[in-house]
Amino acid sequence: MKTNQVVTRFAPSPTGFMHVGGVRTALYAWLFARKNGGKFILRIEDTDKEREVQGSIEHIMKSLKWLGIEWNEGPDIGGPNAPYIQSERKASHQKYAQQLIDKGLAYADPYTEEEVEGFRKQAEEAKKPFLYRDYRPENPPVWDGSQPLRLKIVDPKESHWHDLVRGDLSAGPEALDDFVIIKSDGYPTYNFAHIIDDLEMGVTHIMRSDEFISSTPKYLALYEALGIERPEFVMLPPIMGADGKKKLGKRDGAKDAMDYQREGYLPQALMNFLAFIGWNPGGEKEVFTPQELIEEFSIERIHTSGGKFNEEKLKWFNKEHLKLMLEDAQKEYIRPAVVGLNVTQDAGRIERSLLSTLERISYSGEVAGLLENGELNYLRDEIVLDPALIAWKQSTQQDAYNHLGVVLDKLAGVPSITQAFTDDLLAYATEHGKGNVLWPLRYVLSGSQKSPDPFTLLTILEKEEAVKRIEAGRTQLAGIL
Ligand code: GLU
Repeated sequence: MKTNQVVTRFAPSPTGFMHVGGVRTALYAWLFARKNGGKFILRIEDTDKEREVQGSIEHIMKSLKWLGIEWNEGPDIGGPNAPYIQSERKASHQKYAQQLIDKGLAYADPYTEEEVEGFRKQAEEAKKPFLYRDYRPENPPVWDGSQPLRLKIVDPKESHWHDLVRGDLSAGPEALDDFVIIKSDGYPTYNFAHIIDDLEMGVTHIMRSDEFISSTPKYLALYEALGIERPEFVMLPPIMGADGKKKLGKRDGAKDAMDYQREGYLPQALMNFLAFIGWNPGGEKEVFTPQELIEEFSIERIHTSGGKFNEEKLKWFNKEHLKLMLEDAQKEYIRPAVVGLNVTQDAGRIERSLLSTLERISYSGEVAGLLENGELNYLRDEIVLDPALIAWKQSTQQDAYNHLGVVLDKLAGVPSITQAFTDDLLAYATEHGKGNVLWPLRYVLSGSQKSPDPFTLLTILEKEEAVKRIEAGRTQLAGIL
């Protein structure tokens, strides 16, 4: 029964690495299915056994789940078109291969590697491109499963097809040769297997990287030979490195999706960022929740040219998505990174520092750097002061000593640090020169030349600890006065 339901799929090979480019392919296929109330299938293409890496399937699923890309059918949850692991679908592949043999459209390849090499040399000497079909055996042996099985291109012609992103495309007859559909190890090639799987799974729209454009004539030849209708093709533009010159590859720093999870990026930020490499909905708005992306997504707005992978932009997206979160969720997000610094036993201090720390980062992986550059030094249970650094530039050490004394007196007069207290302190500082008062205070509270402002520090440290640190600062100053 044929329905008009949109069915897309993500068909990664289990090679151990979930490249962000692959994630974007999955994302577009998922967005398009969700937008149209359709189905999104996860299928693992593992027929190239030499490239397979143990644990990859779990890794792929974990990455997609982290991003919130959920599938309707897949290896873990099954579905009406199970199995979803390509190597377990051999029976189907064999069935269709047999149909091609029966129609005289596939044949066993009897040649050894050396013989094929010989043909290649002959072609080279004749200054012709090597095409296997020029050397096709006249009476191929009966296929016994041990020889490669090749598709017979009976009528090499121009290929024409329509791509929903790139429009009408074509390729000359030289793009078509008798290619292998079942290898001598019994496994189908990707070229053949995916056609059968897509057919049996009812896939309506094939979204994949545009590096598959050059193989599309082969797929068309198979659709024709098998007498099946072509699905829609949606070729996605490449993801380029930050310089825009080369495709983003592992060697240029392309990371695994889960690296971003480890570094503390929000999945919704990575999703938003990836969605915008190669697509945008038009207009000024850039920050989209997953639900908004689903609502806005359309194939018409996928770009034909490559988009840049710019990590600075990803940081920006992360920061923007952090701002969309409720305060409790923001705290939950940043807490493990601050706790992980392991610099204080004081849980209350950590808790009160969270929002201030969040303001200083774009993703939680940056928290450790804040400790290194001194900005979080104030969190430590023990801070070390350099008395020479306590006084503000235009002010004397005696002034610093005196102002800190006034702050101590003011603190002695209040039970805790309130807005009224900080207002009063600000008024005092304004009167006496802000730097003269606030710099020494900030430095003795934090032990660092970089820190949050002294009002924030007072609120985070609270009265008792603040008094202790100011007194320690004054003692040190007294020693050099
Ligand atoms: N298994 C192919 C790959 O990982 C999938 C290509 C496709 O989507 O058809 O590159």
